[in-house]
Amino acid sequence: MSFVLHCPHCGPREVYEFRYGGQIVSPPVVRNLPGVQHERWYHRHGCKQWLAAERNVTTNEVLSVRSLEGEAG
Ligand SMILES: [Zn+2]
Repeated sequence: MSFVLHCPHCGPREVYEFRYGGQIVSPPVVRNLPGVQHERWYHRHGCKQWLAAERNVTTNEVLSVRSLEGEAG
């Protein structure tokens, strides 16, 4: 499994640079898209920031990435 996450600080990077931080159960923005999951990712080889990504888990398409800086986790 390989895909690119567009880090808001570093730009597009391979997923290998990130550490998966689990699914976000209650996203701030709820969308009714099938297969779309909200996940935390930690950019361990980049800015060392926590990010929130919207990913379609059936196609591995990353829909959006935003910073989780300043949010309780
Ligand atoms: Zn980054």
